[in-house]
Amino acid sequence: MKIKSFNITCVQPPLAIPHKTASGTIAAAPLVLLDIETDSGLTGCTYVFVYTPMALQPVAGLLADLGELLKGHDVAPRTIAALIQSKFRLAGNQGFAGMAAAAIDMALWDCLARAADLPLCRLLGASPQASCAYDSMGQMPPDETARQVEASLKAGYRAFKIKAGHPDPSQDEQVLDAMISAAAGEDIWLAVDFNQAFSPVISIERARRLERFELAWLEEPARAEDNAGHAQVRAGTSIPVQTGENWWGIADMQRSLDAGASDHAMPDVMKIGGVTGWQEAAALAHGQALPVSSHLFTEISAHLMSATPTAHMLEILDVAGAVLTDPVTVSSDGTISPTNQPGSGIEWDMTAVEKYSV
Ligand SMILES: [Mg+2]
Repeated sequence: MKIKSFNITCVQPPLAIPHKTASGTIAAAPLVLLDIETDSGLTGCTYVFVYTPMALQPVAGLLADLGELLKGHDVAPRTIAALIQSKFRLAGNQGFAGMAAAAIDMALWDCLARAADLPLCRLLGASPQASCAYDSMGQMPPDETARQVEASLKAGYRAFKIKAGHPDPSQDEQVLDAMISAAAGEDIWLAVDFNQAFSPVISIERARRLERFELAWLEEPARAEDNAGHAQVRAGTSIPVQTGENWWGIADMQRSLDAGASDHAMPDVMKIGGVTGWQEAAALAHGQALPVSSHLFTEISAHLMSATPTAHMLEILDVAGAVLTDPVTVSSDGTISPTNQPGSGIEWDMTAVEKYSV
């Protein structure tokens, strides 16, 4: 099976709830959709979430050029990944190049799974597993947060993460108190995300105020690349530290592990290098018995988590549901299972794709 052509579409579907973090608000999801057509007639598809509309055209442009380069090559994701890495060795394999490479990798794996007539998790050797899912909530005032917790509990969620790091530290506590009150005695799982907003010293001060909530983790309490800072926070609070969504490839992950920067691992399937990179990350984490949670990309992550030996929590922050025919939904027991169809769980709703294309 050989690569024939790339079909690239930029869309910007609105988020159901604008997502506010300590470092800005996202109201619509800038996505680059990629369909890779093959000479067998099968098409592999995926999307990448590129964070800012300014990244749409650069990533789409790179994909168009890579489509020309890869025409006639085997649908062999690991071999293709090595080829793309060699082409960007000097320009750098992170950022836009990393996003484009991951899109190609994920679409090729989707294609292989369809060709094998298997859900991606089965192609990777794993039975479908239900993952514990958490509702990944933005930064909101206490009353608004409480209303969302009530609605999410009705939908099946039992686990929640909030973007903390309000300018006034007491606001973080008020939000967590409001969430616990909204759960009205239900035993809920709680985590917070500082989104790199503080220095390690300030993060430690703020984390200590939150220790009474027995949080599952404190996410990115220092700058993503500051492994020593993360290790410092880890030593300064009883809350377990979570990081990894900004690891670009497993070399970044290895540096974080070497620094003892985190109690958990949270690779992002795009930044870590697609399905190929995720498998390497899952193996590294397995070697240290580090719990692995997913970041964004719910549909494909549900498959990858099934094939991850130390799988922990699946993040639900739905950025692509508006352009999919079968958006993932949480079960009444708070879990999400991978789709049972061949592929990685991506089928475009073409009417929505046209509506939101930019
Ligand atoms: Mg985060």
